Amino acid sequence: MNPQTLFYIIIAIIIIDFIVDKILDTLNAKHFDDPVPQELNDVYDKEEYEKSQRYKKERFRFGIFTSTFSVLLTLGFIIFDGFAWVNDIARNFTDNAILVALIFFGIIMIGSDILTTPFSWYSTFVIEEKYGFNKTTKKTFFLDKIKGWLMMAVLGGGILALIVWFYQFAGNDFWWYAWILVAVFSVFLNMFYAKLIVPLFNKQSPLEEGSLRTKIETYAKSVGFTLDNIFIIDGSKRSTKANAYFSGFGKEKRITLFDTLVKDLEEEEIVAVLAHEVGHYKKNHIIVNLAASILTTGFTLWLLSLFVGSPVLSQALGVEEPSFHIGLIAFGILYSPISEITGLLMNYLSRKFEYQADNYAKKTYGAAPLISSLKKLTKNSLSNLTPHKAYVFMHFSHPTLLQRFRNLKRS
Ligand SMILES: [Zn+2]
Repeated sequence: MNPQTLFYIIIAIIIIDFIVDKILDTLNAKHFDDPVPQELNDVYDKEEYEKSQRYKKERFRFGIFTSTFSVLLTLGFIIFDGFAWVNDIARNFTDNAILVALIFFGIIMIGSDILTTPFSWYSTFVIEEKYGFNKTTKKTFFLDKIKGWLMMAVLGGGILALIVWFYQFAGNDFWWYAWILVAVFSVFLNMFYAKLIVPLFNKQSPLEEGSLRTKIETYAKSVGFTLDNIFIIDGSKRSTKANAYFSGFGKEKRITLFDTLVKDLEEEEIVAVLAHEVGHYKKNHIIVNLAASILTTGFTLWLLSLFVGSPVLSQALGVEEPSFHIGLIAFGILYSPISEITGLLMNYLSRKFEYQADNYAKKTYGAAPLISSLKKLTKNSLSNLTPHKAYVFMHFSHPTLLQRFRNLKRS
């Protein structure tokens, strides 16, 4: 294939991907004003529902604006040989392939982050602020950015450097080495995420003494889960929105509850959410997800190894001298339709797992407190009660509130 054809394929993929995404967004938005399902009409009162309608419409418009900006930026960058330009800058510093790749991706990442910062600023300090969600201070906003960059430089940079090095000595067999590296790293990160990464951004503390702790203790004992593994995190530092999640495995397993969740829900509802998280653990969802992601990575790296050496990838992006990092960019775009499909499968699996965790909570604790907690969490985040089927199928990692309600009510 000649570089010109590949160039057009790359442009076409970006445009088609954008259009499909916008069609789904618009389809979803067309159903914002659908009648609320009977089972859910106690979630909002009239005034709150109108507020949620304004919120989702504003989010929708903002999403169209930001994604249009970013797709135009990407297309412009490709059409005007932006990657070749950044490649030249990196090559002016050094001839070392590893350093060139690091400088190249450093410029791309930081450049695109700076260009999109006004959007995340607007999202946090204008939209979220207007609806009463925002708790982030300007200081936290910038500290988060800087910490994020440093983390990216250390972890992302380290992995990239090793992969380029593997490519230098192993050629197309690099994918084996890279796969082992990424697999080991994923397992490690999954285990120690809560201990190593979370403390950079948040404070975590064990459950305090009191009636909530007693209730959780009783439940945890009944299903054989250790209380040492339950933590409260200061999510209120950034937003009033509430959450809970399970992470790690083996001795490092833990359930993290947001302080906002503890504040918003009744004690029985908190235990029900916890029971749902214990369900994820008992059903081995973390391990299955991790295994699925490691397999997907192996497949991606293998596919990358088939193409990355081909000069046509670099030439399609206007770079004459083929190199690993330019090949990686071109491959990344060409791979995106496949990653849409794997993402879709992962979402499908995740929704299955949510039902299983809900069923576990229902069986070991009760359906009623979980239903009322889900309704409260939906209300407090002004979530959409009437998402479109196709949108749910593509984007949702959780079933809709209505689906979860019906599943929990089923006897
Ligand atoms: Zn869940």
